[in-house]
Amino acid sequence: MTVHQPPPLRSTAAQRFQPLFQPLKIGPVTIKNRFYQTPHCNGMNRQHPSAMARMRGVKAEGGWGAVCTEQCDVHYSSCHPRELRLWDERDLPILIPAVEQIHAGGALAGIELAHNGFHVQNFETRAIPLAPSGTPTRGTAPVHARAMDLEDIRNFRRWHRQAALNAKRAGFDIVYVYAGHDMTLPSHFLSRRHNQRIDAYGGSLENRVRLLRELLEDTKDAVNDRCAVALRFSVDDLSEPDGRGCENESRDVVAMLAELPDLWDVNLSDFANDGQTSRFSSEGFQEDYIRFVKNVTSKPVVGVGRYTSPDRMLSLITSGVLDLIGAARPSIADPFLPQKIETGAFDDIRECIGCNLCVASDKLSAPIRCTQNPTIGEEWRRGWHAESIAPANTGDRVLVVGGGPAGLEAATWLGRRGYHTVLAERGAQFGGRVIREATLPGLATWRRVADWRLHQLRKDPNVTLLPTNDVSADVALDSDFTLLAVATGADWRSDGVGRTHSRALPGLGTLPIFTPDDILVGRRPEGRVVIFDDDHYYMGGVIAELLAAAGCEVTFVTPESLVSAWTVNTVEQPRIQKRLIESLAAVWVSTKLVGLEAGFAELACCFTGRCRRIAADAAVLVTSQTPRDALYHDLIAQRRGPQAPRVVRIGDCLAPGAIAAAVFSGHLFARTLDNDLPDRPPFRRENVAPDWDQPFGAEAASSMLKGDLRCAT
Ligand code: ADP
Ligand code: SF4
Repeated sequence: MTVHQPPPLRSTAAQRFQPLFQPLKIGPVTIKNRFYQTPHCNGMNRQHPSAMARMRGVKAEGGWGAVCTEQCDVHYSSCHPRELRLWDERDLPILIPAVEQIHAGGALAGIELAHNGFHVQNFETRAIPLAPSGTPTRGTAPVHARAMDLEDIRNFRRWHRQAALNAKRAGFDIVYVYAGHDMTLPSHFLSRRHNQRIDAYGGSLENRVRLLRELLEDTKDAVNDRCAVALRFSVDDLSEPDGRGCENESRDVVAMLAELPDLWDVNLSDFANDGQTSRFSSEGFQEDYIRFVKNVTSKPVVGVGRYTSPDRMLSLITSGVLDLIGAARPSIADPFLPQKIETGAFDDIRECIGCNLCVASDKLSAPIRCTQNPTIGEEWRRGWHAESIAPANTGDRVLVVGGGPAGLEAATWLGRRGYHTVLAERGAQFGGRVIREATLPGLATWRRVADWRLHQLRKDPNVTLLPTNDVSADVALDSDFTLLAVATGADWRSDGVGRTHSRALPGLGTLPIFTPDDILVGRRPEGRVVIFDDDHYYMGGVIAELLAAAGCEVTFVTPESLVSAWTVNTVEQPRIQKRLIESLAAVWVSTKLVGLEAGFAELACCFTGRCRRIAADAAVLVTSQTPRDALYHDLIAQRRGPQAPRVVRIGDCLAPGAIAAAVFSGHLFARTLDNDLPDRPPFRRENVAPDWDQPFGAEAASSMLKGDLRCAT
């Protein structure tokens, strides 16, 4: 592994950004600069503590002044399935490695203590969830939360205080009280909607804020000698009539508690509002809501808004909107963002594209992934680093065919390793699908996937870029390359085959048919258009938006019960459904397209099979893709002799999927020069150890020592 070099002295251009590198006192601690990684979930949590710790450590190395954990449950009556916990000191070994990693990188370590109240169901612990007033828990499970009595409130304060003391023991510098995202007890108590109490904790705002005030006082009393106490607070939930807004109750709460926390970490609620994608919001989308906070408190304020532009960050600090630039997603896409600003390497910043693949991995309880940064989550497991890669260890000369995300990523890191690499692309432009998809409504920032890589490649003497080069097997084999990576992408099917239909749709040929590939190259249907979305991610929805805006009368048909159903994971789904309902002629859910005939499309209910015919002039089929792998198979068939090059497929050519998967595939290839499936996993696993001094744990431990349970990792 090449060691990441410390940054050179700040460039003249970067000196302008000096205000971003001023230290700032936060209660009893001092942050070295204004870059603050706010708490964010990552799907690793208590199941993958070493991976989580190393991921945080790399961010600290990248220059973030503070790096926080995700939320951490203070008691087993709040058992979030995907988060950290600090129920008592036995959880410390899970957390201490993160503190050590963060400190080793020179950052302050923060921990977001939390109790999720009725936001969770506690399936694991079977504790009845708690709430200010009795209510069903979030979601659809048959679980109710019970109203807390005064003793419950005293107990909760004690648990929170004890967790704060344990956090201090673990070495954390910043301890949070979390009243955000409409998903913690203090925020539930604050809410008129959730709190119908008639005692000292309900009714007036003064009463509803009481618990939050007490938690802040308790936490300060417990740890403020050494730790800063931060309040994560949502200033607006964008809802009426019982919501809290920055122009009414939230402003009053900030005024009431103004000087109590050492740091105000402010944002929007719920998470779908805080974590909006670029399809629905632009950089700095929270500013109008959080701007008032600094006028009400003298304490430091941190806020977020997918900030990736150094100029924007600078102006936030110099104009007094924020004291600290908060970031979750920008720190995931580029853990070295602060260092790149400090050294003037502005064009090297790998900007977040706002796609929320990272959020989706957390929702799916999978270790974090990112479209822009394929190394995130792999720092411990595979030993990958966001900026470094091992130098070449073979004498290969590599031809990468196809300049989409997979090919660009592979060539970028092969070049950095020192491999002489040629990247050939059939088209005049590099970027493949991202360049085309970035022209669809709301997806313009996705082009950053191509832009960042092209910028890296253009300054790399090891890589030759060959646009307008259609590579055939003859040409590739008639050269001195020893390794061929085929990154030629995939085609959308035009026969309707996908999850719903395993055979071609009846009636093809009776109506003009379009696929996403047609739309992406500018072909357009006219009149009454049926879109059949059997893909369920973004493509069907954005094409519907595009065609409706172009004047088509669009009917959207999906076998799922929700429009763009998978975007539940990227927290965009309700916004997409609203947009489509408002802009399309009709939206049919739980319905499949079963046939076409001149002037008509036949639809069927997924449950009853009942059919209906609707008038249609054209159909857009967004069903599934097939790898564009003819070149790969030609190469395999035609290569001869011991000198024949090795051939590897990567990206959508191997298996179509999300852009993040293509980037990951290209990166994996650059690191390993391969893409095969070895017998043993080529990465480390975390085996959660039994609790050794518990009866079962002791037994398991002793048999393990005898070799009974030993397993190789
Ligand atoms: P991925 O997401 O896997 O990177 P893309 O579809 O985005 O796939 O990119 C594949 C790229 O490969 C496209 O830009 C396409 O023009 C290019 N391509 C396909 N076949 C060839 C070929 N034979 N020679 C050169 N380029 C090719
Ligand atoms: Fe940004 Fe997308 Fe990466 Fe998340 S996955 S950090 S939204 S680029």
